[in-house]
Amino acid sequence: HAKAHHRGHTQMFDAEMHRQTLERLELETDLRAAIDGEGLEIHYQPIVHLRSGHLRGFEALVRWRHPTRGLLTPAAFLPLAQDTGLIVPLDRWVLRAAAREAACWSPAPGCAPPSISVNLTAAQVHLPGLCADIARALQGAGLPPERLILELTEHVLTNDSAGTIQTMRALRDLGVGLALDDFGTGYSSLSYLRRLPITDLKLDRSFIADLNAGSAGPALVRTVAELGQALTLTTVAEGIETAQQYAHVRALGFTLAQGYYISRPVSAEAARELARQPGPLVAAGVDDAGTLP
Ligand code: C2E
Ligand code: MG
Ligand code: MG
Ligand code: MG
Repeated sequence: HAKAHHRGHTQMFDAEMHRQTLERLELETDLRAAIDGEGLEIHYQPIVHLRSGHLRGFEALVRWRHPTRGLLTPAAFLPLAQDTGLIVPLDRWVLRAAAREAACWSPAPGCAPPSISVNLTAAQVHLPGLCADIARALQGAGLPPERLILELTEHVLTNDSAGTIQTMRALRDLGVGLALDDFGTGYSSLSYLRRLPITDLKLDRSFIADLNAGSAGPALVRTVAELGQALTLTTVAEGIETAQQYAHVRALGFTLAQGYYISRPVSAEAARELARQPGPLVAAGVDDAGTLP
Protein backbone atom coordinates (compact mmCIF):
# COMPACT_ATOMS: atom_id res chain seq x y z
CA HIS A 1 0.00 0.00 0.00
CA ALA A 2 2.76 2.41 1.01
CA LYS A 3 4.53 1.66 -2.24
CA ALA A 4 1.45 2.33 -4.37
CA HIS A 5 0.90 5.54 -2.46
CA HIS A 6 4.47 6.56 -3.14
CA ARG A 7 4.13 5.73 -6.83
CA GLY A 8 1.02 7.89 -7.01
CA HIS A 9 2.96 10.80 -5.58
CA THR A 10 5.78 10.34 -8.04
CA GLN A 11 3.34 10.32 -10.92
CA MET A 12 1.72 13.51 -9.68
CA PHE A 13 5.15 15.05 -9.28
CA ASP A 14 6.12 13.98 -12.80
CA ALA A 15 2.91 15.41 -14.20
CA GLU A 16 3.57 18.72 -12.47
CA MET A 17 7.18 18.78 -13.74
CA HIS A 18 5.93 18.00 -17.20
CA ARG A 19 3.39 20.81 -17.05
CA GLN A 20 6.04 23.28 -15.88
CA THR A 21 8.44 22.21 -18.62
CA LEU A 22 5.78 22.68 -21.26
CA GLU A 23 4.82 26.07 -19.86
CA ARG A 24 8.46 27.17 -19.94
CA LEU A 25 8.87 25.96 -23.50
CA GLU A 26 5.75 27.80 -24.53
CA LEU A 27 6.94 30.96 -22.78
CA GLU A 28 10.32 30.65 -24.48
CA THR A 29 8.66 30.32 -27.89
CA ASP A 30 6.44 33.32 -27.13
CA LEU A 31 9.41 35.40 -25.97
CA ARG A 32 11.41 34.58 -29.08
CA ALA A 33 8.44 35.69 -31.18
CA ALA A 34 8.05 38.86 -29.10
CA ILE A 35 11.69 39.84 -29.62
CA ASP A 36 11.45 39.23 -33.37
CA GLY A 37 8.05 40.87 -33.63
CA GLU A 38 6.19 43.63 -31.87
CA GLY A 39 5.76 42.11 -28.42
CA LEU A 40 8.26 44.12 -26.40
CA GLU A 41 7.90 47.70 -25.31
CA ILE A 42 9.92 50.12 -23.26
CA HIS A 43 8.72 52.24 -20.39
CA TYR A 44 10.77 55.27 -19.44
CA GLN A 45 11.38 56.38 -15.87
CA PRO A 46 12.50 59.98 -15.28
CA ILE A 47 15.67 60.77 -13.34
CA VAL A 48 15.99 64.30 -11.93
CA HIS A 49 18.71 66.60 -10.65
CA LEU A 50 18.19 66.98 -6.91
CA ARG A 51 19.44 70.57 -6.87
CA SER A 52 16.99 71.91 -9.43
CA GLY A 53 14.30 69.26 -9.83
CA HIS A 54 14.96 69.34 -13.57
CA LEU A 55 14.90 66.25 -15.74
CA ARG A 56 18.28 64.68 -16.41
CA GLY A 57 17.12 61.70 -18.41
CA PHE A 58 15.17 58.46 -18.44
CA GLU A 59 15.93 54.83 -17.66
CA ALA A 60 14.65 52.38 -20.28
CA LEU A 61 12.76 49.51 -18.61
CA VAL A 62 11.60 46.64 -20.78
CA ARG A 63 8.04 45.28 -20.69
CA TRP A 64 6.48 42.36 -22.52
CA ARG A 65 2.95 42.73 -23.78
CA HIS A 66 2.06 39.04 -23.73
CA PRO A 67 -0.90 38.00 -25.93
CA THR A 68 -2.73 36.23 -23.10
CA ARG A 69 -0.91 37.08 -19.87
CA GLY A 70 -1.03 40.87 -20.17
CA LEU A 71 1.79 43.35 -19.53
CA LEU A 72 4.72 41.55 -17.90
CA THR A 73 7.53 43.23 -15.95
CA PRO A 74 11.12 41.97 -16.17
CA ALA A 75 10.82 39.77 -13.07
CA ALA A 76 8.39 37.54 -15.01
CA PHE A 77 10.64 36.88 -18.01
CA LEU A 78 14.24 38.07 -17.52
CA PRO A 79 15.28 34.89 -15.67
CA LEU A 80 13.97 32.83 -18.60
CA ALA A 81 15.67 35.16 -21.07
CA GLN A 82 18.92 34.75 -19.16
CA ASP A 83 18.71 30.95 -19.02
CA THR A 84 17.93 30.61 -22.72
CA GLY A 85 20.37 33.20 -24.05
CA LEU A 86 17.44 35.24 -25.38
CA ILE A 87 18.69 38.06 -23.16
CA VAL A 88 21.27 38.95 -25.81
CA PRO A 89 18.82 39.75 -28.65
CA LEU A 90 16.43 41.24 -26.06
CA ASP A 91 19.03 43.70 -24.77
CA ARG A 92 20.10 44.54 -28.32
CA TRP A 93 16.48 45.30 -29.20
CA VAL A 94 16.04 47.52 -26.11
CA LEU A 95 19.24 49.45 -26.82
CA ARG A 96 18.22 50.14 -30.42
CA ALA A 97 14.64 51.06 -29.66
CA ALA A 98 15.59 53.27 -26.70
CA ALA A 99 18.35 55.06 -28.66
CA ARG A 100 15.96 55.75 -31.54
CA GLU A 101 13.35 57.08 -29.13
CA ALA A 102 15.87 59.27 -27.27
CA ALA A 103 17.05 60.76 -30.55
CA CYS A 104 13.47 62.10 -31.02
CA TRP A 105 13.29 63.98 -27.73
CA SER A 106 13.25 67.72 -28.32
CA PRO A 107 13.91 69.63 -25.13
CA ALA A 108 12.60 73.09 -24.34
CA PRO A 109 14.88 75.98 -25.39
CA GLY A 110 17.88 76.25 -23.08
CA CYS A 111 17.43 72.72 -21.68
CA ALA A 112 19.92 69.92 -22.29
CA PRO A 113 18.49 66.95 -24.18
CA PRO A 114 17.67 64.13 -21.72
CA SER A 115 20.01 61.18 -21.38
CA ILE A 116 18.89 57.58 -21.85
CA SER A 117 20.02 54.84 -19.45
CA VAL A 118 19.94 51.24 -20.67
CA ASN A 119 20.52 48.11 -18.58
CA LEU A 120 23.08 45.55 -19.70
CA THR A 121 23.38 41.97 -18.47
CA ALA A 122 26.54 40.03 -17.75
CA ALA A 123 26.05 37.95 -20.92
CA GLN A 124 26.16 41.14 -22.97
CA VAL A 125 29.26 42.57 -21.40
CA HIS A 126 31.29 39.46 -22.10
CA LEU A 127 30.29 39.30 -25.78
CA PRO A 128 33.07 40.11 -28.19
CA GLY A 129 32.13 43.02 -30.39
CA LEU A 130 29.89 44.69 -27.78
CA CYS A 131 31.54 48.08 -28.31
CA ALA A 132 31.23 47.95 -32.07
CA ASP A 133 27.60 46.89 -31.74
CA ILE A 134 26.82 49.80 -29.43
CA ALA A 135 28.62 52.25 -31.70
CA ARG A 136 26.52 50.94 -34.61
CA ALA A 137 23.31 51.29 -32.61
CA LEU A 138 24.15 54.91 -31.73
CA GLN A 139 25.03 55.72 -35.29
CA GLY A 140 21.89 54.05 -36.61
CA ALA A 141 19.76 56.06 -34.21
CA GLY A 142 21.67 59.30 -34.71
CA LEU A 143 22.22 59.60 -30.97
CA PRO A 144 25.40 61.28 -29.66
CA PRO A 145 27.27 58.80 -27.40
CA GLU A 146 27.27 61.31 -24.53
CA ARG A 147 23.53 60.88 -24.20
CA LEU A 148 23.71 57.14 -23.54
CA ILE A 149 24.41 55.68 -20.11
CA LEU A 150 24.87 51.92 -19.79
CA GLU A 151 23.90 50.42 -16.44
CA LEU A 152 25.84 47.44 -15.10
CA THR A 153 25.41 45.73 -11.76
CA GLU A 154 28.24 44.72 -9.48
CA HIS A 155 27.38 41.11 -10.32
CA VAL A 156 28.50 41.72 -13.92
CA LEU A 157 31.89 42.59 -12.57
CA THR A 158 32.48 39.67 -10.27
CA ASN A 159 33.61 37.23 -12.96
CA ASP A 160 36.59 38.01 -15.19
CA SER A 161 37.24 41.49 -13.89
CA ALA A 162 40.27 42.28 -16.09
CA GLY A 163 38.38 41.66 -19.34
CA THR A 164 35.33 43.48 -18.05
CA ILE A 165 37.30 46.57 -17.08
CA GLN A 166 38.89 46.57 -20.53
CA THR A 167 35.45 46.49 -22.15
CA MET A 168 34.29 49.27 -19.87
CA ARG A 169 37.27 51.43 -20.85
CA ALA A 170 36.49 50.88 -24.52
CA LEU A 171 32.89 51.93 -23.90
CA ARG A 172 34.05 55.06 -22.10
CA ASP A 173 36.32 55.80 -25.07
CA LEU A 174 33.22 55.73 -27.26
CA GLY A 175 31.89 58.53 -25.09
CA VAL A 176 29.02 56.73 -23.35
CA GLY A 177 28.48 56.99 -19.59
CA LEU A 178 28.65 53.94 -17.32
CA ALA A 179 26.56 53.50 -14.18
CA LEU A 180 27.10 50.94 -11.46
CA ASP A 181 23.49 49.82 -10.76
CA ASP A 182 22.05 48.43 -7.52
CA PHE A 183 25.20 49.55 -5.73
CA GLY A 184 25.53 48.05 -2.27
CA THR A 185 23.97 44.68 -3.08
CA GLY A 186 27.18 43.11 -4.40
CA TYR A 187 30.56 43.09 -2.79
CA SER A 188 32.84 45.52 -4.59
CA SER A 189 35.82 46.48 -2.53
CA LEU A 190 36.77 50.11 -2.24
CA SER A 191 39.97 49.63 -4.24
CA TYR A 192 38.08 47.78 -6.97
CA LEU A 193 35.49 50.54 -7.16
CA ARG A 194 38.26 53.09 -7.60
CA ARG A 195 39.64 51.21 -10.59
CA LEU A 196 36.30 51.01 -12.40
CA PRO A 197 35.90 53.53 -15.23
CA ILE A 198 32.35 54.43 -14.19
CA THR A 199 30.63 57.81 -14.23
CA ASP A 200 27.53 57.13 -12.09
CA LEU A 201 26.89 55.27 -8.86
CA LYS A 202 23.27 54.15 -8.34
CA LEU A 203 22.56 53.27 -4.73
CA ASP A 204 20.17 50.32 -4.48
CA ARG A 205 16.68 51.23 -3.37
CA SER A 206 16.81 48.91 -0.35
CA PHE A 207 19.08 51.48 1.34
CA ILE A 208 16.57 54.25 0.69
CA ALA A 209 13.82 52.10 2.18
CA ASP A 210 15.98 51.80 5.30
CA LEU A 211 16.47 55.56 5.66
CA ASN A 212 13.74 55.78 8.28
CA ALA A 213 14.70 52.59 10.03
CA GLY A 214 16.92 54.56 12.38
CA SER A 215 20.12 52.70 13.26
CA ALA A 216 22.70 52.55 10.47
CA GLY A 217 20.34 53.42 7.58
CA PRO A 218 20.99 57.16 7.25
CA ALA A 219 24.70 56.80 8.03
CA LEU A 220 25.15 54.26 5.23
CA VAL A 221 23.40 56.47 2.69
CA ARG A 222 25.48 59.45 3.80
CA THR A 223 28.65 57.38 3.40
CA VAL A 224 27.75 56.50 -0.20
CA ALA A 225 27.11 60.18 -0.99
CA GLU A 226 30.56 61.00 0.37
CA LEU A 227 32.13 58.08 -1.46
CA GLY A 228 30.66 59.38 -4.71
CA GLN A 229 32.04 62.85 -4.01
CA ALA A 230 35.49 61.45 -3.18
CA LEU A 231 35.57 59.49 -6.44
CA THR A 232 33.95 62.40 -8.38
CA LEU A 233 31.04 60.23 -9.48
CA THR A 234 27.48 61.26 -10.15
CA THR A 235 25.41 59.67 -7.37
CA VAL A 236 21.87 58.47 -8.01
CA ALA A 237 19.37 57.59 -5.29
CA GLU A 238 16.99 54.90 -6.60
CA GLY A 239 13.55 54.07 -5.22
CA ILE A 240 12.62 57.51 -3.89
CA GLU A 241 8.97 57.08 -2.89
CA THR A 242 8.29 60.01 -0.53
CA ALA A 243 8.95 63.74 -0.24
CA GLN A 244 10.88 63.00 2.91
CA GLN A 245 13.24 60.56 1.21
CA TYR A 246 13.71 63.08 -1.60
CA ALA A 247 14.63 65.83 0.87
CA HIS A 248 16.87 63.48 2.79
CA VAL A 249 19.05 62.35 -0.15
CA ARG A 250 19.14 65.91 -1.40
CA ALA A 251 20.47 67.12 1.94
CA LEU A 252 23.02 64.30 1.98
CA GLY A 253 24.44 65.58 -1.31
CA PHE A 254 23.22 63.02 -3.84
CA THR A 255 23.29 64.33 -7.40
CA LEU A 256 20.23 62.64 -8.89
CA ALA A 257 17.06 60.87 -7.85
CA GLN A 258 14.73 58.30 -9.40
CA GLY A 259 11.59 56.74 -7.95
CA TYR A 260 7.81 56.62 -7.78
CA TYR A 261 7.74 59.93 -5.85
CA ILE A 262 9.12 61.66 -8.95
CA SER A 263 7.38 59.46 -11.51
CA ARG A 264 6.57 55.85 -12.28
CA PRO A 265 7.97 54.49 -15.54
CA VAL A 266 5.83 56.02 -18.34
CA SER A 267 4.99 55.26 -21.97
CA ALA A 268 7.16 56.50 -24.85
CA GLU A 269 4.51 59.14 -25.68
CA ALA A 270 4.43 60.43 -22.09
CA ALA A 271 8.25 60.53 -22.00
CA ARG A 272 8.31 62.68 -25.16
CA GLU A 273 5.90 65.03 -23.46
CA LEU A 274 8.02 65.22 -20.27
CA ALA A 275 11.19 65.75 -22.30
CA ARG A 276 9.63 68.81 -23.90
CA GLN A 277 8.56 70.50 -20.67
CA PRO A 278 10.63 73.51 -19.69
CA GLY A 279 10.15 73.65 -15.90
CA PRO A 280 11.38 71.39 -13.10
CA LEU A 281 9.71 67.99 -12.73
CA VAL A 282 9.82 68.26 -8.97
CA ALA A 283 8.68 71.63 -7.69
CA ALA A 284 11.18 73.63 -5.66
CA GLY A 285 10.17 73.87 -2.04
CA VAL A 286 8.48 70.47 -1.97
CA ASP A 287 11.89 69.02 -1.33
CA ASP A 288 12.37 71.13 1.76
CA ALA A 289 9.21 69.77 3.37
CA GLY A 290 10.76 66.59 4.69
CA THR A 291 12.27 66.57 8.16
CA LEU A 292 15.88 65.72 8.62
CA PRO A 293 17.37 64.00 11.62
P1 C2E B 1 16.84 48.40 -12.17
O1 C2E B 1 17.73 48.60 -13.33
O2 C2E B 1 17.42 48.63 -10.82
O3 C2E B 1 15.57 49.34 -12.45
C1 C2E B 1 14.80 49.94 -11.44
C2 C2E B 1 13.61 49.11 -11.05
O4 C2E B 1 13.01 49.65 -9.90
C3 C2E B 1 12.50 49.09 -12.12
O5 C2E B 1 11.80 47.85 -12.00
C4 C2E B 1 11.61 50.24 -11.65
O6 C2E B 1 10.28 50.14 -12.14
C5 C2E B 1 11.67 50.02 -10.16
N1 C2E B 1 11.39 51.26 -9.41
C6 C2E B 1 11.64 52.53 -9.77
N2 C2E B 1 11.30 53.41 -8.81
C7 C2E B 1 10.81 52.67 -7.80
C8 C2E B 1 10.27 53.01 -6.50
O7 C2E B 1 10.18 54.17 -6.09
N3 C2E B 1 9.86 51.97 -5.72
C9 C2E B 1 9.95 50.67 -6.13
N4 C2E B 1 9.52 49.73 -5.29
N5 C2E B 1 10.46 50.33 -7.35
C10 C2E B 1 10.88 51.30 -8.17
P2 C2E B 1 11.47 46.96 -13.28
O8 C2E B 1 11.08 47.82 -14.44
O9 C2E B 1 10.52 45.89 -12.83
O10 C2E B 1 12.87 46.31 -13.63
C11 C2E B 1 13.50 45.43 -12.73
C12 C2E B 1 14.90 45.15 -13.17
O11 C2E B 1 14.91 44.45 -14.42
C13 C2E B 1 15.77 46.38 -13.41
O12 C2E B 1 16.24 46.89 -12.20
C14 C2E B 1 16.85 45.82 -14.30
O13 C2E B 1 17.84 45.17 -13.53
C15 C2E B 1 16.09 44.79 -15.11
N6 C2E B 1 15.77 45.33 -16.43
C16 C2E B 1 14.78 46.17 -16.82
N7 C2E B 1 14.82 46.40 -18.14
C17 C2E B 1 15.88 45.71 -18.62
C18 C2E B 1 16.45 45.54 -19.93
O14 C2E B 1 16.02 46.11 -20.95
N8 C2E B 1 17.54 44.71 -20.03
C19 C2E B 1 18.06 44.07 -18.93
N9 C2E B 1 19.11 43.28 -19.10
N10 C2E B 1 17.56 44.22 -17.70
C20 C2E B 1 16.48 45.02 -17.55
MG1 MG C 1 18.98 49.97 -13.96
MG1 MG D 1 18.85 49.67 -10.00
MG1 MG E 1 17.28 46.84 -9.26
